[in-house]
Amino acid sequence: MIGGGFGGVFTAKELARKGRDQFDIELVNNNNYFVFQPLLPEVAASTIHSSDAVVPLRQLLRRVQIRQAEIMGIDFARKLVIVVQGFRRLPVELPYDELVIALGMSVDLKRFPGLPEHALTMKNLADAHRLRTHVISCLEMADVASDAEIKQQLLTFVVVGAGFSGVETVAEVNELIRRALKYYPNITQDEIRVLLVEYADRILPTFPTDLAEYATRRLRMHGIEVRTGVGTKAAASTAVELTDGSVVPTRTIVATIGNGPNPLVEALGLDMHWGRIKTDRCMAVPGHEGVWAVGDAAEIPLVERPGEEPAHYAPPTAQFAVREGRQLAHNLIAKHVGKPLKPFAYTSKGSLASLGMSKAVAEVYGVKLSGTLAWLLWRGFYLSFLPGFATKLRVLVNWVLNLFVPPNIVLVESSRPSTRYIHYRKGDKVLEPGMVIDGFYTVVKGALKLTIDNPQTGEHFEKLFGPGDHFGERVLLKSALRTGLVVALEDSVVLWISQKDFTRLARAFPFLESYFADYIEKTFGGPEKGFAPGSADRAAELETLP
Ligand SMILES: Cc1cc2nc3c(=O)[nH]c(=O)nc-3n(C[C@H](O)[C@H](O)[C@H](O)COP(=O)(O)OP(=O)(O)OC[C@H]3O[C@@H](n4cnc5c(N)ncnc54)[C@H](O)[C@@H]3O)c2cc1C
Repeated sequence: MIGGGFGGVFTAKELARKGRDQFDIELVNNNNYFVFQPLLPEVAASTIHSSDAVVPLRQLLRRVQIRQAEIMGIDFARKLVIVVQGFRRLPVELPYDELVIALGMSVDLKRFPGLPEHALTMKNLADAHRLRTHVISCLEMADVASDAEIKQQLLTFVVVGAGFSGVETVAEVNELIRRALKYYPNITQDEIRVLLVEYADRILPTFPTDLAEYATRRLRMHGIEVRTGVGTKAAASTAVELTDGSVVPTRTIVATIGNGPNPLVEALGLDMHWGRIKTDRCMAVPGHEGVWAVGDAAEIPLVERPGEEPAHYAPPTAQFAVREGRQLAHNLIAKHVGKPLKPFAYTSKGSLASLGMSKAVAEVYGVKLSGTLAWLLWRGFYLSFLPGFATKLRVLVNWVLNLFVPPNIVLVESSRPSTRYIHYRKGDKVLEPGMVIDGFYTVVKGALKLTIDNPQTGEHFEKLFGPGDHFGERVLLKSALRTGLVVALEDSVVLWISQKDFTRLARAFPFLESYFADYIEKTFGGPEKGFAPGSADRAAELETLP
């Protein structure tokens, strides 16, 4: 089994239960835990702890050999999976007789300029943790913001995509923000803007229309702006642009759209459709003996009419991945003992979506429910479905506690990587006089202008930057405040490197350091006070940078 999500885990579990004497079962996954994705919005909202939405694979699959490794490729001809693992990160070849590909899907936002760089995603545990940290950081910064424009951006939260992950994410994040506000005296409820943006003309497309309408009304009652019939066009660090031409100033964009193929799966050269591996109805990959696919990564036909394309395929949901995994385990055993394989057949038992504030919508076995009853059903269902007694107990305790105690707003770590691309819209201020120096900027695309005015001398300095140019070199100083204003003259992209990373690189690479010493001298007329290439003091100081 490669992939330790719903598809891989439930195949391995069933195989270990029914056929452990016949098989040596190994599951390879890049993390040593299984993620219960439907609970990720609750992690983002601080309702449950991040470790409660996951179960260690070794505890979940006691009779299965677990290998934490990154899968790099598959050699179908030699029946080998190539992984990178362990301390030395050497490639290792794992032979197989039967291979189950259960690697799920990835997020692909490339179609929308700026979105890959500025959107937060909701696919794995790190995403949920990052979103929680980001939201709380925005509240912290907004509470002390002196600039009204920036405060508005910080207090506007946009979730793109209104399938169940988008709806649950917006509902949970909205609840976290509204409940946390009593600890932020400088922010009022009216200043908070939470938007749900959906390209289709309704939310929750897999739900009946009346339940989707109820959900829309509920979300609006909770203060969420629901905008349907409009999608994202582009994003920048300060705003998201929508397909109707409107621009929403924001520092938070959460994208629950853009399901794309897992890059590894895409590179395997298998027959794919919409980013998923085409299988037959028994989940075998045609043309590759001993290769199977399940879960989101597989496109499994549900209806077969001889000579016709299948009418539809198993949808990418946990509900289906679990059943596919179990069925595939039976097929593997059947193949082993020479019995006929069984085509996969399953009809959805319904859907559930939480709307926050103890409300939900549910359609189960054709029965529609909404409100608190649906919410209790949602919680009961996921609790019963969560693997492992300890996990169930921890989630239950957290849920109960959350009803009585305030949300946890502890900021454990910064959500920002130390090197990243930043998109700016025309007119955006990149640097302002008085800002504490934070990093170094290289222009990738667009045009920007630096202006320095010295009120004492009346001197005025201007410089234009285009692709390949750089600014912010004063990170090489011990510490300083920005003196210039840098504004984007058109929509632009810059590569930002944190002060700490950049100065370490410059220190280790003397050519870079002397290049900047010369550059500063030529551009600004002499080395600035405190600039001392190669200084041992500075080296020591840099080690203590935050
Ligand atoms: C926020 C959210 C909420 C959801 N809510 C629901 C819901 O309420 N109901 C429902 O039915 N479905 C829901 N889903 C969908 C459901 O979670 C997925 O359909 C399901 O997880 C698919 O299972 P899978 O095993 O195919 O893939 P995944 O669960 O994505 O597992 C794939 C595994 O492969 C690993 N992997 C990938 N590439 C590599 C590599 N190169 N090397 C090693 N390991 C690798 C990954 O780390 C992961 O562990 C939700 C999804 C999300 C994101």
